[in-house]
Amino acid sequence: MSLNQVRHWVFDMDGTLTVAAHDFPAIKRALDIPQEDDILGHLAALPTDVAAAKHAWLLEHERALAIESKPATGAVELVRELAGRGYRLGILTRNARELAHVTLKAIGIADCFAVDDVLGRDEAAPKPDPGGLLKLASAWNVQPSDMVMVGDYQFDLACGRAAGARTVLVNLPENPWPELTDWHAADCVALKKMIGAKS
Ligand SMILES: [Mg+2]
Repeated sequence: MSLNQVRHWVFDMDGTLTVAAHDFPAIKRALDIPQEDDILGHLAALPTDVAAAKHAWLLEHERALAIESKPATGAVELVRELAGRGYRLGILTRNARELAHVTLKAIGIADCFAVDDVLGRDEAAPKPDPGGLLKLASAWNVQPSDMVMVGDYQFDLACGRAAGARTVLVNLPENPWPELTDWHAADCVALKKMIGAKS
């Protein structure tokens, strides 16, 4: 299957559709999380009350970032093109769903995604777990192999691979994870060119 035949697209949000704004080392310092640990994994292993307080801090920190979100180069045009073709579009993010809606609204593409097709960290196991993609495949009644997962990080690609979906890496000039990647585009402008005219 060529990329322009794919009609079911799932996007990572932060750093893929937006200009990356999260300072993960600083977040880890603020929450007393070892630099080598995964933030959501670390919080999941803490006692409930401690985890709840840190999750609350994280939500407020990320809310401020969400309101200020700026679209990644070409992201709005790409998403509008796909939505205009009538394709099904979803978001799979390790951010919170509520903040995903704030972010999509801030960059002007909230209308391109059905509310239920935006999955955050409370709606599915965080990437690289394939659960969120499989959930969308089931909701859309398609095979994962008919879907593409677009992201800017290893977790996005690994999630796509684990689900049996196709994968696209964007927003990195070089590809550090070729074994996980089906297509690589320098940014969403290049990706829009790759899908060409509607087939
Ligand atoms: Mg990202």
